[in-house]
Amino acid sequence: MAIDSSRDAYERTRLSLAGGVSSGLRRTMRPVPLFAERAAGAHIWDLDGDRYIDYVMAWGPLVHGHSEPHIIDAVRRVMTSMQVVGMGHRLEYEAAEAVLESVPQAQRLVWANTGTEAIQVALRFARAATGRHRVVKFTKAYHGWQDSVYASIDEEDVGETAVPASRGQSPNAHTDLIVSQFNDVEAIRALLRDAEERQIAAVLIDPIMSNAGVHEPTVQFLQTLRELCSRHGVVLIFDEVITGFRIARGGAAERFGITPDLSVFGKAIAGGFTQSAVVGRADILDLVEDGVMHAGTFNGNPVALAAVKASMELSAKPGMYSTLEELGASFEDEVTSALASNGGVGTLRRVGSLLQFVPSGEITSLHGTGGIWSEISGAMLEAGIAFTPSGKIFLSTAHTPDDIAETAETFERVLKQESIRVS
Ligand code: PMP
Repeated sequence: MAIDSSRDAYERTRLSLAGGVSSGLRRTMRPVPLFAERAAGAHIWDLDGDRYIDYVMAWGPLVHGHSEPHIIDAVRRVMTSMQVVGMGHRLEYEAAEAVLESVPQAQRLVWANTGTEAIQVALRFARAATGRHRVVKFTKAYHGWQDSVYASIDEEDVGETAVPASRGQSPNAHTDLIVSQFNDVEAIRALLRDAEERQIAAVLIDPIMSNAGVHEPTVQFLQTLRELCSRHGVVLIFDEVITGFRIARGGAAERFGITPDLSVFGKAIAGGFTQSAVVGRADILDLVEDGVMHAGTFNGNPVALAAVKASMELSAKPGMYSTLEELGASFEDEVTSALASNGGVGTLRRVGSLLQFVPSGEITSLHGTGGIWSEISGAMLEAGIAFTPSGKIFLSTAHTPDDIAETAETFERVLKQESIRVS
């Protein structure tokens, strides 16, 4: 695998597309951002025609794999009859009903396009429902790139003053954020005790910190959140953009048995097409008819909703999530033993089909996991296995035990390289 085609393509792209990538973190892929020509199942082919086992999986959406035939058929069928109509169509309710059937105790939804957008409208609903304006989030958690939540991405950024994470953000955009620590029961108790005086409208949480290490929440933490939000009139919002339709059919709410007031879904909801949704309590979401503005030209377009409906049908099939669980467990076992027998460079954390490489002695963060993963993932790419530069590993039902065995063998080989070995 020479990766030369991607090197050339990246250099050419930078002359037209600012930064050379369409979404920031892709730039950190080593040795160079990979350029794909086609993809099917668990594999991707680059511009030279070289094949890679893909664990990037578009950073989450492809829980059924690339080009899944049932999804592609559904999209193809609708695409030739209409594309976007800006008015009602049958798939609006058929896809909505399918989502509500999948998510525990979900009563209503609104459609949006991306996770970033859906988070913004979820916060708007929470503010309208409570008449308050502040939002608690957890340090390191990513909820999209929008100014009001893209803040306090570093471990130590905790407290009442959120820290912007990009140049160019308004200093006034995060004044509503309060930042707490994930799994810290006492901290959240102390904050929510005074929710009314502090004007706290919502707690926004990714229940497994998908972008910041992949952590199991403690049962006590999620239960405390649920109890305190109910007691103090705070809207509990689960950001299920990564966890939704991945760690269980009904996402984190199903897996951990805690029902939030609102949930935000994106990525896997449409199995590779652009769609997101805010799902939850009817009394909150029905405020859309009582003064809450929600809009979008492409919201609920037929092409994306055909993909949503088809994805929901696949997710409802018996055995889908036990297959993902088994694949996740065998990836964890086989790759962990390769890591352990080669100098202990790091370990894996896993919830279902989402894994995270955790380098020994370093912290994980949104922007990468430190130097050693850059070296390992770069060498793995050159050996035909594609990973995200942040160390998140996405499995799909298209991955096979053979793919995993080949991946573990490649790890064994790559970790023996002089430049990577730690002793
Ligand atoms: N929330 C979480 C947990 C995410 O991982 C992401 C995207 N990685 C978002 C929100 C934003 O979604 P999108 O990229 O579709 O705007």
